[in-house]
Amino acid sequence: MKNAEFRRRMTSVAALVAGLCAPGIAAAQQTPYDTINAAAAASEITATPLRGGVVLLQGSGGNMVAMPGPDGLLMIDDGIALSKAKVEAKLHEIQPTGIRYAVNTHWHWDHTDGNVWVHDDGATIIAQANTARHFGETIRVVEWGHTFTPLPAGGRAAMLVAKEKTLAYGTDVIRLRAYMPSHTDGDLSAYFTRADVLLTGDTYWNGLYPFIDYVAGGSIDGMIAAADANIAMAGEKTIVVPGHGPLGTRADLIAYRDMLVTIRTNVAALKKQGKTLEEAIAARPTAAFDAKWGQMIISPALFTTLVYRGV
Ligand SMILES: [Zn+2]
Repeated sequence: MKNAEFRRRMTSVAALVAGLCAPGIAAAQQTPYDTINAAAAASEITATPLRGGVVLLQGSGGNMVAMPGPDGLLMIDDGIALSKAKVEAKLHEIQPTGIRYAVNTHWHWDHTDGNVWVHDDGATIIAQANTARHFGETIRVVEWGHTFTPLPAGGRAAMLVAKEKTLAYGTDVIRLRAYMPSHTDGDLSAYFTRADVLLTGDTYWNGLYPFIDYVAGGSIDGMIAAADANIAMAGEKTIVVPGHGPLGTRADLIAYRDMLVTIRTNVAALKKQGKTLEEAIAARPTAAFDAKWGQMIISPALFTTLVYRGV
């Protein structure tokens, strides 16, 4: 990656994750991991009530939600640990009696780094079985420029989901369902059946090309299968909470799926013609979508690289 491209991407990462423009923190020596953490450190946490008591929290890595219940809050994802004080303050406004459950949509730190402190606040951590296994491993994610080491015991999952689990809590019934390997090999959706709010984890990024974690079992075909699963789960009035980006609708999910399918088709055709990765990138197989999807975090060249790897 050229330096200018690297800096541009990191600035975009900071802007997206923090929800603010903070070019000063995008120093050239920082890895994307450092930059995302710095963005979270600089960001306020916003709390947006959705429906049925479910509240969206943004400003620390991936999107999170919290919902009050009889024994404390239920959370889906818990952000980056350095945001603890700010996230805790927002949670306290929703319900001051601690956290009962924290569900992880997948193992990435921008969704689960808060596991240790939410566990200290009372939470039982719930994750898909492969995600739980990754919490005990050392994993290098090249694109993030960081090697993740095993989580302390308190941050690991105590309740595992193989394929599906239904959790009746508070005023809602939450259905947790494993995707087949998609963004990783351990992604979970969380659907609040009464509030009609669907969390997709990082199988769906609204308005952004998604990252695909091949090291942990992800693939473009798995992402497309997950996009179809999300469309099948969503109704016309469903509030869709993506892993990153603003709230979406079923129509947005369809546009996202169609983008993935078209780019996969384009890249597969180039690879079948014998084009190298560099030649495939130069052919710009994402061009028709770049204005809408290619402006932040995952550049058109990186997304082409991720798709090329899987076709
Ligand atoms: Zn992720």
